[in-house]
Amino acid sequence: MSEAPPLGVFGGTFDPVHVGHLRLAEEAREALQLGRVRWIPAGQPWHRAAPQTSPAHRLAMVEAAVASNEAFEVDGREVASGRPSYTVDTLTALRAELGDALPLVLILGTDAFSLLHTWHRWRELFALAHIGLATRAGQAADAAALDPALAAELAARGGRDAQALRERPSGAIVRFDMTPLAVSATDIRARLARGERCRYLLPDEVFEYIRLNRLY
Ligand code: ATP
Repeated sequence: MSEAPPLGVFGGTFDPVHVGHLRLAEEAREALQLGRVRWIPAGQPWHRAAPQTSPAHRLAMVEAAVASNEAFEVDGREVASGRPSYTVDTLTALRAELGDALPLVLILGTDAFSLLHTWHRWRELFALAHIGLATRAGQAADAAALDPALAAELAARGGRDAQALRERPSGAIVRFDMTPLAVSATDIRARLARGERCRYLLPDEVFEYIRLNRLY
């Protein structure tokens, strides 16, 4: 049983960061009773097409987006590394820094979770962190649609009780319902390319950063 509340760990490409990400992190914090949420923008994601925007810009947009929330913090280690970022390596480094006892909760949307079995050394993730799994708009975590090995992990480790996250430092998969928000960075990039302002899909600070730096 940990004295300190669990720390949320939230990775993503954030190309750009949007209200779906912000609500995901905030609703995870509330539902899972996390002390803080650490945002970790990917440097060079290994599992998807190269982001349209540089790591430094994506990091700066996340910093601008979360500055007003005192429970959020930003960790630039993957951006600074200049190498492809593997979550297993990032969590191993966090463990070394934060100790073995603190519960870490990797926050994932359903679409990200459904690809977990394709991640580098994915089974090792369960020894490093819990998973907080949000149901994303229109995409229930349907075990039948999951890879069988991943579905087996969900069956063995899954639940809805946030208390499970405090009892051990890692290894549980706790689901929580998230307000459905069908917002995606892909859609926002397309809108920005058409000259739309995207007000209320992104924080104003992020839109202003995009405008000043002529991104997208
Ligand atoms: P893209 O459209 O470029 O694939 P994205 O909007 O899905 O980007 P990512 O940076 O790839 O954003 O996502 C980071 C994390 O946020 C993932 O776990 C993803 O599931 C989650 N996420 C993104 N958008 C939403 C949303 N609207 N609701 C819930 N979760 C979301």
